[in-house]
Amino acid sequence: MFIFDLQISNYRNYGRVGLNLDRGLNLFVGDNAQGKSNLLEAIYLLSTLRSSRASSDADLVRREILHTDFPVARLACQVERSAGNLQLEVAVVGRTTDASHRAGKRVRVNGVPKRASEAVGQLAAVLFTTLDIEIVAGPPLLRRRYLDMMISQVDRGYLRAMQRYARVLQQRNSLLKRIQAREASAAELGFWDQELAHAGGIIMQARGDALGHLVAQGAQQMERLSDGMETLQMTYRPALGGLDETDCPVDETEWTARMLRALANLRYREINAGATLVGPHRDDVTVEIDGMPADSFASRAQQRTAALSMRLAEASYLRRALGDDPVVLLDDVLSELDARRRRGVLEFFESFQQTIVTTAEPDRVRDVMIRASGRFVVAAGAITRFEGE
Ligand code: ATP
Ligand code: MG
Repeated sequence: MFIFDLQISNYRNYGRVGLNLDRGLNLFVGDNAQGKSNLLEAIYLLSTLRSSRASSDADLVRREILHTDFPVARLACQVERSAGNLQLEVAVVGRTTDASHRAGKRVRVNGVPKRASEAVGQLAAVLFTTLDIEIVAGPPLLRRRYLDMMISQVDRGYLRAMQRYARVLQQRNSLLKRIQAREASAAELGFWDQELAHAGGIIMQARGDALGHLVAQGAQQMERLSDGMETLQMTYRPALGGLDETDCPVDETEWTARMLRALANLRYREINAGATLVGPHRDDVTVEIDGMPADSFASRAQQRTAALSMRLAEASYLRRALGDDPVVLLDDVLSELDARRRRGVLEFFESFQQTIVTTAEPDRVRDVMIRASGRFVVAAGAITRFEGE
């Protein structure tokens, strides 16, 4: 799929911008702090309905209008897809006002109001940023988010299970605390265990499945990018309290059964801790380079190549699951790569319908400039197309 029209108003440092994007490679050049990352964040938000970096919706609304009667940022795009064309609109209300605006996001898909969870993944996208190295070097949370953002774009049931899991987890944890304080009985856990393990089974099944594709793709990409010098191994580590962690069962009922066994095993430890100690909220994916844990042994450059390989694997996963290409967003990542790795990335995406690249250093990515079909300059929240180099 590819975006051919993008409209932005009052989003971050943008006032009003309308753009026609090209099929193929689009390059956005601009000095620091001009709005390049904001632009890609906006596109990724249209895809996932979540910001890749903001902590609150208010951050997304242009500061100058946040305290007016109409504190609303708007994003809209038109997308050509093999599953039928798409028109997508998101309004982000930054602040509740007397003009009867409730804060939060409103979404329309082809003109029809939808819940955010129904609109996720209508536009599929994969975002590369310079922070991606943290997927390899950082805490498990970031690897879970890597999986969640990817799978929820292609599997609505996954997103629903995630939401239910989060609700049940919260209730179960507060029950555990009440049992610990002798305000409730352990017998009440039975119902919540079932609920949690049921939603958990769906999540672990989907994660295990996704890993099946990611492991092979990630290894292949790492080999390609490093000229066969380095190997990447990813392994799904479901948090089941030490039970059956090595092999992946094939269906979700088996995952649910394993989770129920794990919960039963840990009952007293959980009551003591006042918290749920097993389940997908504690899952991890271990990443190894040449057989050693990548977070503690690999060099920064190796970690960066591994993270890049994981993102390439994500793009390939989305393409396979959708039967259509996700839009590829590369925020400032090409200029930090050597020429060989950059070529490896560009070659991989040549067969994708649309790639959108930003850079502050166009001289370092001459190869991208030459191949780009659309070239734009970003300056102080304004975007203009330019021809030539
Ligand atoms: P770099 O090359 O350093 O990565 P960039 O072009 O990617 O720069 P952005 O991250 O897009 O820059 O940020 C551009 C500007 O947007 C920043 O100066 C930031 O202060 C501003 N900005 C962020 N949020 C808002 C907002 N809600 N309202 C107004 N301006 C904002
Ligand atoms: Mg930036």
